[in-house]
Amino acid sequence: PLPQVVIIGRPNVGKSTIFNRLVGKRLALVDDQPGVTRDRRFGDASLLDLEFQAVDTAGWEDEEPDSLPGRMRAQTEVSLKGADVALFVIDSRAGVTPLDEEIARWLHQQGVPVVVLANKAEGMAGQGGIMEAYALGLGEPVPFSAEHGEGMTDLFTALLPLI
Ligand code: GDP
Ligand code: MG
Repeated sequence: PLPQVVIIGRPNVGKSTIFNRLVGKRLALVDDQPGVTRDRRFGDASLLDLEFQAVDTAGWEDEEPDSLPGRMRAQTEVSLKGADVALFVIDSRAGVTPLDEEIARWLHQQGVPVVVLANKAEGMAGQGGIMEAYALGLGEPVPFSAEHGEGMTDLFTALLPLI
């Protein structure tokens, strides 16, 4: 079976856009409103010569901002079962939020390798957020722009030793 890369993060950081970029098909619904991805979505992804199964999640959606209820955590925990890598997405423009920090603390306990993807990093607006993402303690964040297709080579380099 293909290695599995599970895309997680709070609502609206661009998880579904990243999934679509990696899978290359409009399989995941993207919307300005949080909470659009109701279920997990699976797609065969390729990134340069890496092939893996990408999983788009919505584990933290449909919730109060900055809360991390057990139900949502449990759903994401299920998604992480059997995952080779968790791709933890933050919004570089918004910077690191309290919910991002809570997800990061939770991820530290999961025993799954994590790549922090600093999405929405096109142009200069994401610089501060990328720096903040270092402080999550999950390794060097990969600057990325799902919308513009930037950062693909750096993501490849980050994933290569893990899958
Ligand atoms: P999700 O809730 O995490 O799945 O986020 P979505 O993929 O639905 O995207 C939320 C919003 O962020 C949409 O308006 C996207 O167009 C936008 N978005 C996604 N990626 C980028 C990016 O790289 N740059 C910018 N500026 N916006 C993005
Ligand atoms: Mg989504």
